Amino acid sequence: MEKTKYIGAHVSIGGGVENAPQNAEHIGAKAFAMFTRNQRQWVSKPLTDKNIDQFRENCRCAGYDPKHILPHDSYLINLGHPEEAALEKSRVAFLDEMQRCERLGLSYLNFHPGSHLNKIDPDHCLERISQSINLALDQTAGVTAVIENTAGQGTNMGYRFEHLSRIIKNVRDKTRVGICLDTCHTYSAGYDIKTAPAFENTLQKFDSLVGIGYLKAVHLNDSKKIFGSRVDRHACIGQGSLGLGPFKFIMNDPRFDHIPMVLETPDPSKWEEEIRLLYGLIK
Ligand SMILES: [Zn+2]
Ligand SMILES: [Zn+2]
Repeated sequence: MEKTKYIGAHVSIGGGVENAPQNAEHIGAKAFAMFTRNQRQWVSKPLTDKNIDQFRENCRCAGYDPKHILPHDSYLINLGHPEEAALEKSRVAFLDEMQRCERLGLSYLNFHPGSHLNKIDPDHCLERISQSINLALDQTAGVTAVIENTAGQGTNMGYRFEHLSRIIKNVRDKTRVGICLDTCHTYSAGYDIKTAPAFENTLQKFDSLVGIGYLKAVHLNDSKKIFGSRVDRHACIGQGSLGLGPFKFIMNDPRFDHIPMVLETPDPSKWEEEIRLLYGLIK
C-alpha cells in the first residue's frame, strides 16, 4: 500500500526553485508542494533556463514525477476580485504562475478560488473565478488548474462543495481543472471527517456534488480551531481538533492513491517525523 500513497510537504525554494526537490528528499517526502516565485510580491524575476534545467534534473535524480508535485500560487491573487483593475492584475499574475509551471514541466497549479470582498454577490464571484481559469487555460498547455477548498474565512469562496462544482461547471476544458481538498479547511468549513462514517459521508457528498474524479491533490493539516469555525489555522498532524482519525482513513483509502498529499503544518522541523507518522498509519 505504501507505494500508492505520495506524502510530502510544502518545501522551501530558498536559493531558487531548483532546490525544492532536494529539500523534499531530505525529509523523506514522496511528493512535494512549492511556490514558483516569491509568493508575497506581485512581480517576480522570470525563471532562467538554468533554473529550469536544474529543477528538472534534480526532480529526475530524486525520482519526483510532475504528477506528484503541487505548485501553489501567490496569496495575493484573487481570481474573483469584484473590481476590474484588481481582477485584471490577478489574472495577469495567475497566467504568469501557470506559464512558470508550464516551463518547469509541471502538471498542476494549486490556488485558492477567490473572495467577493462584500462588493459583489457570491454567485457573480464564482462566475468571475471560472472566467479567470478559462483565460489562463486558453493561453497555456499541459497544466491543470487545481482549486483548493477553503475554510470559508472572511469573504473567501470555495468552502462549500457547491461552490467548487459551480466553478467547474463554467470551466470550458474540464480535463484541465481539478480540486485539492485540505483536511483542515474541510473540517473548519463544516464537513465532518473525524469518524469513519462522517468521513465517508463527506466523501460521498463531494462525489455527488463535484465528482471524485476531480480530486487531484490533498493538503494534510490538522486544525487549531473547532468544527465549523470557518477559521483557517493549521495544526501539526494529530495535535489539533482532528486528531489522527481522518489521516488514518486517508492513508488506507484507495481514492487517495497516486495523488500528491502534502503537509502545510506549522513546524517544518517536524515534517520528516509527520511523514513517517502518516506512513505508519497504513494498515
Ligand atoms: Zn491548503
Ligand atoms: Zn489553510
